[in-house]
Amino acid sequence: MIIVMKQGATDTQIANVCARVEQLGCQVHLSEGQERSIVGIIGDVRSLDRAQLERLEGVERTVPILRPYKLTSRDFQPQDTVVSINGIAVGDTQLVVMAGPCSVESQEQLLDAARAVKSAGAHILRGGAFKPRTSPYSFQGLGEEGLRLLAEARRETDLPVVTEVMAPEQVPLVTTYADVLQVGARNMQNFALLHAVGEAQRPVLLKRGMMATIEELLMAAEYVLSHGNERVILCERGIRTFEKYTRNTVDISAVAVLKQLTHLPVVVDPSHGTGKWELVEPISRAAVAAGADGLLIEVHPSPETALCDGAQSLKPDRFRQMMAGLRPVAQAVGRTL
Ligand code: PEP
Ligand code: MN
Repeated sequence: MIIVMKQGATDTQIANVCARVEQLGCQVHLSEGQERSIVGIIGDVRSLDRAQLERLEGVERTVPILRPYKLTSRDFQPQDTVVSINGIAVGDTQLVVMAGPCSVESQEQLLDAARAVKSAGAHILRGGAFKPRTSPYSFQGLGEEGLRLLAEARRETDLPVVTEVMAPEQVPLVTTYADVLQVGARNMQNFALLHAVGEAQRPVLLKRGMMATIEELLMAAEYVLSHGNERVILCERGIRTFEKYTRNTVDISAVAVLKQLTHLPVVVDPSHGTGKWELVEPISRAAVAAGADGLLIEVHPSPETALCDGAQSLKPDRFRQMMAGLRPVAQAVGRTL
């Protein structure tokens, strides 16, 4: 349930309503909008007397919320969440592009990629140090050495770094190096991990599971928010369908649906979404046109020798062309790049 306060309700009236809700054994999530404030109620609301709450001073009305997610929902917080990553705002007018190799492979590879994506206009450097691979015989990532290289690339380029964390016990280590903690598609419902990143002091990039519904993605985000971390960025990265031509099927409608259902920023990963570098540019345009707040793009200095995901990685010059082609699309939907 939410309590919608009247326009111009005083701080004292809002504080009284919050106190009353807490007295009744529930928790409060206060969203102070420009026009009016909304007091979200978390907990067992069945015993609450709506008429009684509506009699409190400053209250306009109460609205029952039937959706299973609360903190994540736009009903609880109508205004967009803007996640700041070292001063880069995700969820604001400017689109945010996170780019870099699938995996950190070497100092030279990462620095080449980092310089290239920076000069093409990317805002954040991506690169995996802990890799969730289908086969135990595939390259598993450089681990902490990869994190060190990411930190070095950040020092040189000034780009913040996003990298995947695969297990709760890795969160402290990854947090010491990374600016954003990525939870991969395969771990979207790793509830212990969601709990751990919920307690971390870093923004979280939460990728949609390859077989997850939109509601399951929002419930996963709810875990992170409910453990205290409200800086969550959602990522549509394609879902598994019967279509085999592409690696996954990018659910463009999910972007528009998520923008309706949640205040959290939404980015799209057309690299994993399609599995083919030729499709990355057109699907990036579609994502921006549909209202995405940013993109996650794999770029590799020499995709043909990449240890992971070469087929979907852009060469630096193609990435640069893609960025140039995106600018008019961004402008057409009222965004900048
Ligand atoms: C990745 O971003 O490198 C990755 C492994 O993505 P996903 O979890 O979406 O497969
Ligand atoms: Mn990859």
